[in-house]
Amino acid sequence: MNVIFLGAPGAGKGTQAEIVSEKFNIPTISTGNIIRAALKDGTPMGLKAKSYIDAGKLVPDDVVIGIIRDRLAADDCKNGFILDGFPRTIPQAEALDAMGVGIDRVIDIEVSDEAIAKRMSGRRVCKACGSSYHLEYKKPKTAGVCDACGGELVQRKDDAPETVLERLKVYHAETEPLKAFYEKKGKLFIVEGQEDVADTTALTLKAMED
Ligand code: ADP
Ligand code: ZN
Repeated sequence: MNVIFLGAPGAGKGTQAEIVSEKFNIPTISTGNIIRAALKDGTPMGLKAKSYIDAGKLVPDDVVIGIIRDRLAADDCKNGFILDGFPRTIPQAEALDAMGVGIDRVIDIEVSDEAIAKRMSGRRVCKACGSSYHLEYKKPKTAGVCDACGGELVQRKDDAPETVLERLKVYHAETEPLKAFYEKKGKLFIVEGQEDVADTTALTLKAMED
């Protein structure tokens, strides 16, 4: 099954994508994580992406489309995959179509801008492995320490309040039109994001079965 998770930055699509990924035993492909890993490794792609990410802007379409084209060619995508954070623009969605990649369903996690702005301030990520946590909603077992690898938990630079506002603006302008794009194809399933992650998960799993 090929699934896309859509939603505003901080809506919790990454968390839901990981849960569905485990349950259905298919990989999650997060363009955000791939780009941050490249940035950490100092690759040319990472260097190119840095200024965009730090400013809350989208990385150019050709860069992310290239990332996805390479990643989807890997063996572990043969039985399906979950895309988290791609496509984020209409040209990116059209590029998927042009690659001949069929999408079975699109799960859109809806959360208000106000709730997102509040949530983002509590978000923390592992410096070493990229796992994400939240000071209130998804606490690590030990404060400031990654459950998965013991790495240090930090706030992402682009989770700073001013940058979050810019990212929400970009989301409404560039990404939200994808809802209509996939609605027209009959692929869109809307999940109202809940305050409690487990409640959202229940709705997501239902949307996977509808
Ligand atoms: P979030 O979903 O919380 O916004 P991500 O980790 O998905 O965070 O993305 C972080 C940043 O990486 C984005 O703000 C953007 O700069 C870049 N990025 C990730 N995916 C894409 C994409 N599909 N197109 C363009 N830029 C992207
Ligand atoms: Zn970690």
